Amino acid sequence: MTPAPDNIQPLAWRILEQLQAPVMTLDLAGYLTSWNRGAQNLFGYTPAEAIGQHVLFLYAQDSFEGETPLAEILPEHGDTVTEVWRRKKSGENFKAVLTLSLLLDDAQQPMGMLMQLTETTETLQPQERQKLHSSIIEDSDQGILITDVHERIVSVNAAFSNITGYLPSEALGQTTDLLRSGVHDASFRAKVRAAMSGSGPWQGEIVGKRKTGELFPQSVSISVVRNDAGNITHAFSIFSDISVLRAAEERMQQLVNFDSLTGLPNRSHFHSLVDLGLAGARRNESFGAILAIDLRRFNVVNETFGHEIGDELLRQVAQRFKQVLRDEDVLARIAADEFVVALLSVNKREHSGIVAQKLLACLKPGFTIESIVLHVSASIGVTVFPEDGMDTATLMQFADVAVKRLKAEGESGYLFYSPEMNQRAKERWQLEGELRQAMASSHLLLHYQPKVSLRSGRIVGAEALIRWQHPQKGMVSPALFIPMAEETGLILDIGDWVLSEACRQIKAWKDSGIHMPVVSVNLSARQFDAQLPARIQVALDRYEVPAASLQLEITESLLVRGTDSVMHIMNDLVAMGLALSMDDFGTGYSSLAYLKKFPITTLKIDRSFVVGIPDDDNDCAIARAIVTMAQQLRQEIVAEGVETKAQMHFLRALGCDQLQGFLFSPGVPADQFARMVQDRVRLSLD
Ligand code: C2E
Ligand code: MG
Ligand code: MG
Repeated sequence: MTPAPDNIQPLAWRILEQLQAPVMTLDLAGYLTSWNRGAQNLFGYTPAEAIGQHVLFLYAQDSFEGETPLAEILPEHGDTVTEVWRRKKSGENFKAVLTLSLLLDDAQQPMGMLMQLTETTETLQPQERQKLHSSIIEDSDQGILITDVHERIVSVNAAFSNITGYLPSEALGQTTDLLRSGVHDASFRAKVRAAMSGSGPWQGEIVGKRKTGELFPQSVSISVVRNDAGNITHAFSIFSDISVLRAAEERMQQLVNFDSLTGLPNRSHFHSLVDLGLAGARRNESFGAILAIDLRRFNVVNETFGHEIGDELLRQVAQRFKQVLRDEDVLARIAADEFVVALLSVNKREHSGIVAQKLLACLKPGFTIESIVLHVSASIGVTVFPEDGMDTATLMQFADVAVKRLKAEGESGYLFYSPEMNQRAKERWQLEGELRQAMASSHLLLHYQPKVSLRSGRIVGAEALIRWQHPQKGMVSPALFIPMAEETGLILDIGDWVLSEACRQIKAWKDSGIHMPVVSVNLSARQFDAQLPARIQVALDRYEVPAASLQLEITESLLVRGTDSVMHIMNDLVAMGLALSMDDFGTGYSSLAYLKKFPITTLKIDRSFVVGIPDDDNDCAIARAIVTMAQQLRQEIVAEGVETKAQMHFLRALGCDQLQGFLFSPGVPADQFARMVQDRVRLSLD
């Protein structure tokens, strides 16, 4: 027995000491001054361990911060009752009701605190427990349904009614067929039945039917209840309505699988749909087709009218395509201006051509968006299965090859894929790789073709013509690789190389004391951007070549593009001292009025008109018209591709200034050209 603390009367202490209820006293600073048996039983500390410790050592770990200090809850009279967390010696935390009162001495001065604790783990009476359980069941937001051994519903909760729409009175006595949706097959239903008859707990998703007839997905778990003898008395299922979850999931699927602009399937979803369709086609040995659709000049719409108009155009295009197609056809948008259609069952190859025609035709009427009328056309590449292939990736690739082929030719319309096409596409890829290689390993070189004066017969200029010395194929014509380089953008690097190489050559000639005429260099339209003048300046500066030694040959397609920026760039070039010459004149669409606007000093009559001279009246008339026009514009006139004396005489009589052609010389290597100049080789004008 512990001695009475000096602030408590011995008798009172003896009583407290014996109490089952945990009681302890503290001094005003919070140090324990006594510790009764109840306290020892509750906490597990002996009086020796507890007395003298600060009360904080009984606190549960995280209750320090949340709990108001004892001194603050201490009443001047009577008791304070509060709920607290404490920790036993074993480490276990527990909740307790704490009663605190002030101990006063005879002079009514505070001398300590009396503290009582009651652990609050109430154990429930069976009846109370049942009440608690049923209220938990009733209040649960999961639907609960209890059936008897005859599978009849004997109890449902409020959530059951909320979810299914059936009142308890409507459900009780019925079998679970009440909620049957009819979407599950017999084997699925057998599994659920087995769980209800005690084969073990089952968890899964079942589609149920509400009273309204609406189907809804539910997540369900089913178990049984057995009596003491082990016999099943009831089965119960707990379910939640997951249609909200499903809706969210579907929204997510929508985002993942569909294009948000048009609502059409996107590329990956299209792939899976076609995969499925092809599997079906394989089984049924049916035919089908993939159509890759590329809208032409869509980016012009975007650039000119802005993205909002562009977006709306895409939506309307998608709408029109959908109207043309059947429900079983799959339409998807796979890139900004690329759509694709899968016809998963057609009877004949030609039918896919008819669909392509319909798709093209539906674009014909203009699209009116915010009172702007827009016209778009498309290129469609068609590939058919099983002939061309039987897997989605291959078919998509082939349809793409066919589209690219059409686009390269600048055509709208449709084109069936053919294996040769693929061969060609492969060759182009190979060529591109080789061309990059050629640039790196200096297999590119320039030849120079002389231009001679039709007055003196002397060499007055040269055109630099690129040559590709291919290690296996020999000399590859620029007519073969320049268009491809333009398509891929490689022309920018090649163009820079040509400029630099021409300047290097001009400087080399100058250094060896040869007086050379002006050299012209061909420029591709793609090179014609705002940086072009600066790039040319770099080449000129690098080899200290005066601008007057260089001429630039441009093509009519640039003028047709006719934007202000083209004009600006031309003016910049002219301001640098470079002369511009119009190559292949007559093959494009430019008119006299057009030409007048641009600072061009030379016109080159295209070889195609020279070929027919002097026998073809039409060619002669065109050549005459060009010369007349150029003279009015005071432009110098060069005839290209002159091969015969007869052509020379005719062109000279017309008033052409210069001649370039095999009649005098083809393009030749630099040293050979230099010798021709040094030797003053002349064209005989007789
Ligand atoms: P182009 O600029 O019209 O060049 C004239 C082409 O006609 C050259 O063909 C030349 O060899 C050919 N030619 C000249 N006289 C005759 C003739 O009397 N008869 C025949 N049958 N042909 C003649 P080439 O060198 O094959 O070049 C073809 C085209 O490739 C050039 O047409 C030009 O558009 C382009 N090209 C050549 N070099 C370059 C270059 O460095 N850069 C760019 N962007 N294009 C180039
Ligand atoms: Mg040229
Ligand atoms: Mg030409």
